[in-house]
Amino acid sequence: MMPKRIVVAGGGTAGWMAAAAIARTMGGAATVTLVESEAIGTVGVGESTIPPLVTYNRLLGIDEASFMRATNATFKLGILFDGWRDGHDRYFHSFGVTGKDHWAAGFQHYWLSGLERGQHASYDDYCLELVAALQGRFAHLPDNALNYAYQLDSNAYARFLRSMAEGDGTIRIEGRIREVELDGETGDIVALILDGGRRIEGDLFLDCTGFRALLIEKALHAGYDDWSHWLPCDSAIAVQTENAAPPVPYTRAMAHDAGWQWRIPLQHRTGNGIVWCSRYLSREAALERLLGNVEGRVLTEPNHLSFQTGARRKQWHRNCIAIGLSGGFMEPLESTSIHLIQRAILRLIRMLPLGPVNPSDVAEFNDQQLTDMVQIRDFLILHYKATDRRDSPFWRQAAAMDVPETLAQKIALFRETGRVFRRNEELFAENSWVQVMLGQGIVPQSWHPIAAKLSDDELARFLGGLREQVARTVATLPSHAAYVARYCGAA
Ligand code: FAD
Repeated sequence: MMPKRIVVAGGGTAGWMAAAAIARTMGGAATVTLVESEAIGTVGVGESTIPPLVTYNRLLGIDEASFMRATNATFKLGILFDGWRDGHDRYFHSFGVTGKDHWAAGFQHYWLSGLERGQHASYDDYCLELVAALQGRFAHLPDNALNYAYQLDSNAYARFLRSMAEGDGTIRIEGRIREVELDGETGDIVALILDGGRRIEGDLFLDCTGFRALLIEKALHAGYDDWSHWLPCDSAIAVQTENAAPPVPYTRAMAHDAGWQWRIPLQHRTGNGIVWCSRYLSREAALERLLGNVEGRVLTEPNHLSFQTGARRKQWHRNCIAIGLSGGFMEPLESTSIHLIQRAILRLIRMLPLGPVNPSDVAEFNDQQLTDMVQIRDFLILHYKATDRRDSPFWRQAAAMDVPETLAQKIALFRETGRVFRRNEELFAENSWVQVMLGQGIVPQSWHPIAAKLSDDELARFLGGLREQVARTVATLPSHAAYVARYCGAA
């Protein structure tokens, strides 16, 4: 069997993540050629990640300290949300678990039963990652007891992966794709034609051309589902600043009256950005607001971005797979884009056709990838829908909107019973939904009767023991900034 010729169009985070993973895992079964254009450049944002990236790097055999040095990465234990419920509140969505679940009922049922019995400790006090994050502490713990992700320089990550991929045999071609050549009979992609006429032939094409979606949409017309009626933010500006303080192990998402603002601390600088809905805020006002709410000297020119929230209807169409922004985009509120890239790549490697493309693989891939996107979409919508904010047209619209039935059902179930169920390998587990629903002000009206089996004393001992364990462990952890410096050998 001839090796499969895989052509990756685009060399942003998506393109190089795909090339590095395929080149490393597929050995002689596939050749990888990547075409990118330095003149066009990359989107240049995407700095906050979630824990599965740790696994992805391990699968590729990446040494963590080298990777963190190369990307100036810090550790991330979750996201601090400011002002999402009423404009003045704050809550934390952490990685990891809160308390201790019973097989029949999540920990929140015990905590709610405790509240009713006068045991008022905050839900936050039972989560190791959360308490460690807010105290600015971090260390690797045995058995991954402190679950983490990274905050990283995404351009540097792409460069890091590029050198790996090239070391594993990926051929990189610099050039601008001018045209996508289709087979007159099958409609499949045959080759990419570059400026100057060079022709890059392949069997399978990965569209990693970002928002341009040159292959999957411009050539193959896969279609796009617009989700902006649920997630109406359509604009962003990013700037980098000097660190005003030692980097903390969490990202911040600060709501404002027409969207929100991020702050992502890396080792050597902080990434900042404002996300907003252009119906309610002008570009000039957004820039002024962003620059007025950063800490530290501004280091870069503002990077302006526009987007339409939604998903490509077919993520895999004919012999082309959309990976990255070409497959769709949802605002980076829960840092899920790089994760979707990773999911698509690992999925593709599992289904990689050695012969012709198999329609059953295509159908399965599309179903799984779109299920992921819809589940993430619902989780993001929750942050807007479940709000008490009515201080601006943006928030009034968010609170009044009809949400997808899947989400409406999830909210109703939690409100009535305190229950959350995870379906279809959903990315966000029970703890994530509970933290965000409580944080956004949804209070369950009842909880599982199993919690009532514990007497007041037993429950107090159970809850108190868990709190103490968290506090004791966190007290042993060093400061995050000192740990990163030592780990990366920069101290
Ligand atoms: P791009 O970076 O745009 O790369 C496209 C590539 O295609 C480039 O190499 C370009 O040169 C090439 N190309 C395009 N046209 C041609 C052509 N004609 N010829 C040759 N080459 C071409 N994700 C997260 O996980 N966490 C975050 O915190 C986060 N924040 C974000 C904030 C904003 C405002 C935005 C918009 C996105 C954010 N993302 C985030 C998403 C993340 O940035 C992307 O998922 C990631 O960078 C992947 O982008 P990409 O590689 O698909 O596209």
